[in-house]
Amino acid sequence: MSMSRIETKCIHEGWKPEKGAARQLPVYQSTTFKYDSSDEMGRLFDLEAEGYFYTRLQNPTNDAVAAKICALEGGVGAMLTSSGQAANFYAIFNICEAGDHFIASSSIYGGTYNLFGVTMKKLGIECTFIDQNLPEVELEKYFKPNTKAVFGETITNPTVSVFDLEKFARLAHSHGVPLIVDNTFATPINCRPFEWGVDIVTHSTTKYMDGHAVSVGGCIVDSGNFDWMAHKDKFPGLTTPDDSYHGITYAERFGKGAYITKATAQLMRDFGSTQSPQNAFYINLGLETLHLRMERHCENALAVAKFLEQQDKIAWVNYPGLESNPYFELSQKYLKKGSCGVLAFGIKGGRERSIQFMDRLKLASIVTHVADSKTCLLHPASHTHRQLTDEQLKEAGVAPDLIRLSVGIENVDDIIEDLAQALNQI
Ligand SMILES: *Cc1c(COP(=O)(O)O)cnc(C)c1O
Repeated sequence: MSMSRIETKCIHEGWKPEKGAARQLPVYQSTTFKYDSSDEMGRLFDLEAEGYFYTRLQNPTNDAVAAKICALEGGVGAMLTSSGQAANFYAIFNICEAGDHFIASSSIYGGTYNLFGVTMKKLGIECTFIDQNLPEVELEKYFKPNTKAVFGETITNPTVSVFDLEKFARLAHSHGVPLIVDNTFATPINCRPFEWGVDIVTHSTTKYMDGHAVSVGGCIVDSGNFDWMAHKDKFPGLTTPDDSYHGITYAERFGKGAYITKATAQLMRDFGSTQSPQNAFYINLGLETLHLRMERHCENALAVAKFLEQQDKIAWVNYPGLESNPYFELSQKYLKKGSCGVLAFGIKGGRERSIQFMDRLKLASIVTHVADSKTCLLHPASHTHRQLTDEQLKEAGVAPDLIRLSVGIENVDDIIEDLAQALNQI
C-alpha cells in the first residue's frame, strides 16, 4: 500500500491493526498494563525494554495518535500532551533550565506569551520577545551565550502573520540552538516546517486537528535533525547522565529519539500533563478528515477576506492569502496550498462599533475558540488578551479594534450573508 501522500497518511497512519484486530483505533481506557514477572516490569522502568506500564507515561491509544501526527509532520518521534499550553511548556523546558535564555516572536498566541514572559521567568528562564519581521542582522543581537532555543508560530494567533521559517532556522543554527515552531494554524496539511529547517514542532490539537471543538490537547514532534552532541555544553539535560533515570544519557542512548524520550521519561513523569485516551480518540477522528476540512476552511476564508476587503465599513483586513497582504509573498513560499481559516480585521469606528457588529451576528458566534467547523469570532482586546497592557498589546501586534474571525466550513454564501447583515446594522 502506498502511504506517501498526506491525505492517505491522515487516514492510515498511527493505528495499524493486525488480522482480526479492531479496524478503528481502540480506546485503551486503562491506567495500567499487566506483566508476568517482576523482572519484565523492572526492565521497562530501566528503559531497557519497550512497553506500557502506566498511562501517565505512555498509552497505546495516545501513542497511535502521536505516531500519526509524527508521520504527517515527517518527524522521528512525537508525544501527546493534555493541551497546547503543556506542549509549548515541555518543548522549551525540555532543553532550558534556570539561568537559561530563549528568543520568541512577540506575535505569538497570548497564552504562550504569558507562559514565556511571566511564568517561565518565575522558573528562572528568561525569554526575549522579538519583532519577527526584523532583518537577520538585527535579530543576531538578541542571542546571548546562554540562549538555548528560538520559538515562533508558522501563522501567528491572532494576527495571522507568517513566520519566515528559513530565516529563523538559519539564525538559530548559526548560534547552535534549535528552532521550535508552533504549527497549530497551518497544520501539516498546509505546511511541514521540518522541510524548511525547523527542528521541533508543537501543536494545540484543540484547533484544526480536533476540528470539532470537543477536546483540548497538544503534541510535540521532533524532526530528529538537531545534533545535541555537537553542542554538548549547551544541552546538559540531553548530553550528560540523568541521575533521576539510572544515569542514562539521552542523546547517547536514544540518538534521534533523545528529545522525545527525555520529554516523556522525565517531564511527563514529573509534571503529568497527560492526554486522556478518550480525547486522543477524538483527535484521531479529526485527523482523518483534516485534509478535507483544511481545504474548505482556506477556500471559505479567502472568499470572506475578499468580501470584507471591499466593504466601506471595514478599516483593514489581514489574511495572508490576499494579494494586498504584507505576508502574501511569504505565504506563497511556505503555504502554497493555503494558510488557514482564521483572519483578522478591524471595523471603522474602533472598539465600540466592533462590539456592536459582533452582537448582531446570527450564524457566527462569539466564543473563545478558533479553528473548528463552526464560524466564530472574538475580540482579543476584550477577551483573550485582556490581561495585557496597551503597550504589550502593541508589542504583540494586536490592535485594539482587531476582530479574529475563524471561518468555518458552512456554505460560504451563508457566512458572507451573515457578515453583510450585521455590517448593514451598524
Ligand atoms: C490555542 C493555542 C495554543 C494553546 O493551546 P491549548 O490547547 O488551548 O492549551 C497554543 N498555540 C496556538 C497557536 C494556539 O492557537
